[in-house]
Order: sequence, then structure tokens, then C-alpha cells
Amino acid sequence: AEEQLRQSQKMEAVGQLTGGIAHDYNNMLAVVIGSLELLNRKLGDPSPLVKRYIDAAMDGARRSAALTQRLLAFSRQQPLNPQIVDANRLVAETSELLRHSIDANVRLETVLAGGLWRVHADPNQLASVLLNLAVNARDAMPDGGRLTIETQNFYLDDAYSAANFGVSPGQFVMIAVSDSGTGMTPEVMAKAFDPFFTTKEVGKGTGLGLSQVYGFIRQSCGHVKIYSELERGTTVKVYLPRMLEQGDLPVAMPRAEAPAAE
Ligand code: ADP
Repeated sequence: AEEQLRQSQKMEAVGQLTGGIAHDYNNMLAVVIGSLELLNRKLGDPSPLVKRYIDAAMDGARRSAALTQRLLAFSRQQPLNPQIVDANRLVAETSELLRHSIDANVRLETVLAGGLWRVHADPNQLASVLLNLAVNARDAMPDGGRLTIETQNFYLDDAYSAANFGVSPGQFVMIAVSDSGTGMTPEVMAKAFDPFFTTKEVGKGTGLGLSQVYGFIRQSCGHVKIYSELERGTTVKVYLPRMLEQGDLPVAMPRAEAPAAE
């Protein structure tokens, strides 16, 4: 729980900082892009070389603008719009999207639990969590491998693990994204959720993927955990509280013995 507090405070601080910078930066970029467009129009029919320089500048400016958009979205801690969500359907839809963006040498599998409980979450945010995790999985398998997305009903009935997870014991829907990729060293794993931590080359990674995942899952009263082994692969498990719907009988939780001592 202390770790979680530390993490949220860190994210809040980074969020405020990036929010301010991204905002100013965005305004300056608008000037650059506007001037380039004007220059383009004024020149009419420039030589191929001049055209190439202008296109390159425009391309760079547009990509920076896309990055600042992501930073702004990150710092804004977008308000959630929770709905009753069928995670199986969301996973199925996301996998359809994914099929277009993964190489032929990555095999994508989904293992969807029957009778899966529903969750109360923002479907767009949850979809972006799944995409973030899947893109990381893909990036960890440059030579191909298996990407599996699995759903499961999960009873977290042991008070001790629940406290460890920073959630109350209860019923959760688990979504696990696994890859057979490079895995993480303990050092990388310790920092993986930190905003701006990335091991990817400049332009490929922002280091915001997992911290966004973390922020969203915590906002949804859930939990996220990484299991990783070097050279074998990584599994990221996301737990979201079950949504109790009208007509559902609350299930009595088996009483777990609290551990005698901390
Ligand atoms: P980014 O993907 O932009 O680098 P993330 O916050 O999503 O940012 O991830 C941070 C770092 O965690 C990555 O750069 C990578 O080193 C590591 N990582 C995340 N997911 C995986 C994975 N599935 N396999 C191996 N390493 C991973």
C-alpha cells in the first residue's frame, strides 16, 4: 500500500509537470506547423530538394504534436466514464484490431472464460490498457512468438494477498496478457511502471504505457501485477472488481485467516 501511494504521488507530480510543459509546447508547435503550411503555399512549386526539407520538417512537427497529445492525455488523468463491461467482448474486439498490427510470426490466442462476470469500467480506457499491454508483448518478441490474452473469474478471498494488492477481498475479473518474449530483468521490472521509464529506442517508446495502465487500473479500484522471466516471457495480470448486477446473489466470501503477524 505504501508502494502504491509512492507510485500515485510520483504520477501526480509528473502529470502536473508534463501537463504544463506539453501545453506550452503544443502552442509553439502550432506556430511551427502553421508557418510551414504558409511557406508551402507561398512557394507554390518548390524544387524537389526544398520540398523534401519542408516535408521532413512538417513530418517531425506533426509527430511531436501527436506525442504532446499523448502527454496531455496522460497528465489530464481523463475522467472515467464507467459502464457495465463484458471483458470477453472487449478482448475479442481488441484482438481483431491487433491482428492488423502484429507480424505473421506472432501467434495471437485468446482464452475467454465462460460465464465471465462483468466489470464496471471505462470501456475505452480498458481497451487502451489491453492495446498497451499487447503492443509491449509484441515489442518483446521481435523474432515472433505467442501472444495470449486470457480472461478468468477470480476470487481474491485471502485477506493477506488482498492487502498486499491494495484492494479489498472479493470477486474480480482477471485479464492476463502473456508473451513468450525477452522477459524483464529485475531492474527493469522494478521500474516498469514508472512514468517515462523505457528501454526502447528513441521514437519507439515513451515509457508511458505501463504507468497509464497502472493509473487506470488503480482508478478503477483494481490491481495490476507483472510476472516475468528472462528469455521466457512476461505475463501482466489485471484485476478489476466484479460488477454486481441486479439479480446477482452476493456470494458469501469464504473467511480467510488473517496472518498472525506482519
Ligand atoms: P514503453 O513501451 O513506451 O517503453 P512502458 O511503460 O509500456 O513504456 O514499458 C516500460 C518498459 O517496460 C519497456 O520499455 C520495457 O523495457 C519493459 N516492458 C514492458 N512490457 C514488457 C514485456 N511484455 N516484455 C518485456 N519488457 C517489457
